Amino acid sequence: MKTFVLATANPDKAREIEEILSPIGITLLARPTEVPDVVEDGETLEDNALLKARALVDATGRAAIADDTGLFVDALGGAPGVLSARYAGDHATYADNCRKLLAELHGVAMSDRTARFRTVAAVAYPDGSWFVVDGEVEGLIAEAESGSNGFGYDPLFMPETGRGRTMAQLSSDEKHALSHRGNAFRALAEALADR
Ligand code: IMP
Repeated sequence: MKTFVLATANPDKAREIEEILSPIGITLLARPTEVPDVVEDGETLEDNALLKARALVDATGRAAIADDTGLFVDALGGAPGVLSARYAGDHATYADNCRKLLAELHGVAMSDRTARFRTVAAVAYPDGSWFVVDGEVEGLIAEAESGSNGFGYDPLFMPETGRGRTMAQLSSDEKHALSHRGNAFRALAEALADR
């Protein structure tokens, strides 16, 4: 049995990661509430994921897992990217961010609305060793929101293999099977199996 402390305090992400890792025998402990949030000021998803994982190892003395995700939209030069959580401002809600994304893409043809989600997952150990893996999913940004499952930009993101549905119109099993987070955490599980 492999046990890690999970850095994220975002219940949407924690639920998805738990759903992906628990069937393969990886146990996740919640981040202790007294451990403060890390300032995610890295320039890349890798930087931020490692910052979070290492901070948690330092605070708990246990092996830790952290992830960082961004939505990269080609017509916007890769925005919102690393800043996906704060796209519409420091305290932006998921709805604010989706509204801003739709406004920025106003008038952009469907064929030019290509985008990808990318997740980097980092594992850090008390002995100072660490590794990162990543996962992606390609898709298109819809012209209006659809669906009520998932979170974040899911109502706007139509994955390539989703037969025209947004991520928010998929069941959670369907989402994990094709998602950036599913791909990243499956890669992480494979890497852990070799250790
Ligand atoms: P984080 O830095 O990993 O917390 O992710 C940054 C932002 O990306 C989140 O606040 C969400 O808005 C968005 N995001 C992350 N994962 C997903 C997802 O699976 N679907 C839709 N949006 C996501």
